[in-house]
Amino acid sequence: MSELPAILSHDSPGFHLAETWQREPKADIDPVVWAIHYLQALRDLAVQADWITLDDGATPPTAALIGIGQHVHGINRQLDWILQHFLACFEIAQQPQVQVFAAPIMAQAGIDGFCNFQHHPITLMVDPSRILAADWPHLVAHELAHGIAHSDGHGHRFKQALDHLCLAHDLPLAPDNSLETNVLPYWPPCRKNPSHDRFWLELSHLGPLDMNRPTVADT
Ligand SMILES: [Zn+2]
Repeated sequence: MSELPAILSHDSPGFHLAETWQREPKADIDPVVWAIHYLQALRDLAVQADWITLDDGATPPTAALIGIGQHVHGINRQLDWILQHFLACFEIAQQPQVQVFAAPIMAQAGIDGFCNFQHHPITLMVDPSRILAADWPHLVAHELAHGIAHSDGHGHRFKQALDHLCLAHDLPLAPDNSLETNVLPYWPPCRKNPSHDRFWLELSHLGPLDMNRPTVADT
């Protein structure tokens, strides 16, 4: 693997590495190299490094790596745009420090996203391949609620945080009895992407990222 560009070696506490990966790579950077560095950066921040895996079964370089290298900044910008809208429902002084990344998460992990609330800034990773782009805000809200509650459980503190986010953005509120009925691990509901297998592979076929920008209700 070639050396990391200097800008990517910045790892001081509190540094929002996500901002680096929202920028379009320079034209002379090989998208495969960029993608390999990106996946490594995700593994360094993940709750479990081995969750970050492309399930395409091929040896690199693959179409998926090229697609990630060329387009992941566009997806990361969209996710950050969603995140910033959620953060805007907090008073500035109470806004948590949070960053978000698009991450290919291995199917065996059994999750569509996760929150590393031990890291500063709190780090959310969501797999945009798993659910329809229109529901990305639901997944971001769920993981952000873990970050605010500072817990990976789905108990009272998590529900309180999620209710706050859902109310502020007109997302469906979890039912009153959701703590007893165990729906909170799947709240707010997200529609599965029927072509999730092809999402990363087909990124490289995109021109300028042409997915519709997800909507957050109060924009
Ligand atoms: Zn959860």
